[in-house]
Amino acid sequence: MRPFSTRGRFVNLRHNIRSSLVFKAFIWFGLAALVAAMLVVALSAVQERFYQQAHAQTQGLALANASAAALTPTLLRQDARLADQARLRLVGQRAVLDIHVLDLSGKVILPTTTRNTNRTSAEFKQTASSGRTSIRIQGGVLYSFIPLYDDGRLSAVMSHSYDLTKDQTGAWGLVLKNIWRGLILLGVAVPAGLLVFIRLTSPLAELNRAAAQAAAGDLSVRLDVDRKDEIGVLSSNFNTMLDRLKSNFDRTRWLAYGDSLTRLANKTAFNEQLQKQVRLERPPGALMLIDLDGFKRFNDAYGQEEGDRILTIVAQRLRKVVSEHAPRFAAASGQSRPLLARLSGDEFGVLIPGARSAPELQNMANAILEAIAAPIDLSGHNACLSARIGIALYPHDAGDARNLLTSVNFAIDEAKKSGGGTWCFFEPSMSQKAIRRMTLQNEMRRALREQEFVVHYQPKIDVREGTIAGCEALVRWQQPSGKLVGPGAFIEAAEESGLIREIGDFVLDESCQAAARWESAGYNCGVAVNVSSLQFASNDFTQTVFAALARAGLPPSKLELELTESVAMTNPERMLEQIGPLREKGVRFAIDDFGTGHSSLAYLTRLPFDVFKIDQSFVQSMTEDKHARVIVQTVLAMAESLGYRTVAEGVETREHFAFLQLHCCDYVQGYYFAKPMVEADLVGMLHAEKENLSRAETPSYAEAV
Ligand code: C2E
Ligand code: MG
Ligand code: MG
Repeated sequence: MRPFSTRGRFVNLRHNIRSSLVFKAFIWFGLAALVAAMLVVALSAVQERFYQQAHAQTQGLALANASAAALTPTLLRQDARLADQARLRLVGQRAVLDIHVLDLSGKVILPTTTRNTNRTSAEFKQTASSGRTSIRIQGGVLYSFIPLYDDGRLSAVMSHSYDLTKDQTGAWGLVLKNIWRGLILLGVAVPAGLLVFIRLTSPLAELNRAAAQAAAGDLSVRLDVDRKDEIGVLSSNFNTMLDRLKSNFDRTRWLAYGDSLTRLANKTAFNEQLQKQVRLERPPGALMLIDLDGFKRFNDAYGQEEGDRILTIVAQRLRKVVSEHAPRFAAASGQSRPLLARLSGDEFGVLIPGARSAPELQNMANAILEAIAAPIDLSGHNACLSARIGIALYPHDAGDARNLLTSVNFAIDEAKKSGGGTWCFFEPSMSQKAIRRMTLQNEMRRALREQEFVVHYQPKIDVREGTIAGCEALVRWQQPSGKLVGPGAFIEAAEESGLIREIGDFVLDESCQAAARWESAGYNCGVAVNVSSLQFASNDFTQTVFAALARAGLPPSKLELELTESVAMTNPERMLEQIGPLREKGVRFAIDDFGTGHSSLAYLTRLPFDVFKIDQSFVQSMTEDKHARVIVQTVLAMAESLGYRTVAEGVETREHFAFLQLHCCDYVQGYYFAKPMVEADLVGMLHAEKENLSRAETPSYAEAV
């Protein structure tokens, strides 16, 4: 921060004043008015000088005429002394310098004392000859020659000299006398000129303000100047320029902040708005993320063009729902309207300032799901979409944009787990779960590198023979602490992170190697390996299985792959492609946890599987629950009629086993016989069994029966 400086401010102000137009106009007007005032004073002085001269001449002439009237020839003739006294009186008057009277020959007759007789000049001669007054001005003196008549006859000429400069003011005196004119001019012209200038240039100040406003980013400013002069034209050009700028700016803004496909806001605009709204000091609100379920399928099936059309239609429907619900939130948000945006391919976001109540948001979420679910006509087919919605509230769930997005993503993941077509609010437990899951995933990555995963084997007993007919490979995590962790604790996280592929490949490889060892040791024991949906979905699944068999040198008939119903039913066509070549070579396929996937029985039984593994939940509740009993019974009967082999999982008691035996179950697997065990223990069991058989003794499990 710069320190506050009074001097700096003063310098700035001085600079602003100096560079202002009014200041410049003041200086120029001032100078021009000063020059004009000086001219006026000078001209006035000159004019006055002329006036004074003319006045002195008139006065001089008038005095000369008056003197002539006084000094008549009669008086001269009658009394020269009296006449001379009269002349002397006249000479003493004001600026009269001298008076002479001359006869027509030029001889001075008055004053009588004058010796110099001839005083002729051109003017005298002119007057003496014409009888008319003549004058001459010379050296500031007015010389007048007045004819004097005696009884109507020109008898003499009076010469009268008058000092014209006597009553005249000096040059400075004239300037000082006229200075008031200059001052009036300055006093009136400068303010008047400035006023006119300010009036003329006042639109410039408005223009300046508008330009500053526009420069600060407000392009809506317009000038209202109703003039036809240059300033009017300038204002109109300024308005046109702003119109163009604004339309270019809007266009650029749209390119930067709009989604060209749906005409909604894009991710950048959404994130900016999110940053602004989601602050602790702002009013509360909500963020909704809407993710279309399986949109990729539509895109793949109908092509990208139709996919785009679906997105456009969904965007229109969302816009309608949002605008219908907007007024409910607007009042609480201080008029900020909800913002709808497309955030990625099939993901939309709604930022709802002012949303506080869960029921209102639920209504809106339901309306969105309903709008999306309405059929869309695609080239004659009706496509029905669904979506999942995650909802998070701010500042309740997160006080900033980044954490709010994380929260809403937890919520959408939760909605996804519920199978889509639903909404879910964020709960703090979700983020704790997610943190735990992330830690677990990192730990699993390390465990894979450190080879901490091991495979245990659980025997499957042939119900008729009472012998070990095979085993199921079950993964375990042997942690450095010595703790053995079962798959229930990590399989889900491994599936989410994709690590299940590597784990599954390891289990497959390890199981094939083990089964190959048993084979070469002369034990007739195949292995069943669980396959996750991710493993099965990968394009090279078939090759991976063949490669594992080849590496181990295990006959395919010794390998059984267990798929759950949901994996089998996700994409039946693809499933046939995947398992076809493997079955041809003798690999068997089992449906694991049969009965728990709610799949269509009619469809399921048409799939090319070899074994049904009845889920342990039915087996374990058989003894108390009549329905479970009936289900197990029915599945066993159905499998027998359709030619499937059956395995019952989770056999824990003699009653379980007895029931299964009674209803012709082929194989049983459960703690009643053996828990999952390390390979060495299984081999020990296989060995013992072989020994017993070779001594024609009853197999150990037959005793258990
Ligand atoms: P599953 O394939 O249905 O495996 C049977 C589960 O039942 C095993 O649990 C087994 O230990 C347990 N079980 C067997 N007999 C009894 C019994 O009498 N009583 C009880 N209560 N349980 C019994 P486990 O080993 O914990 O495995 C759980 C699930 O984890 C498996 O169910 C399977 O879906 C999955 N899993 C295990 N290993 C792998 C693997 O390598 N890959 C994949 N993708 N999934 C695996
Ligand atoms: Mg299994
Ligand atoms: Mg199972």
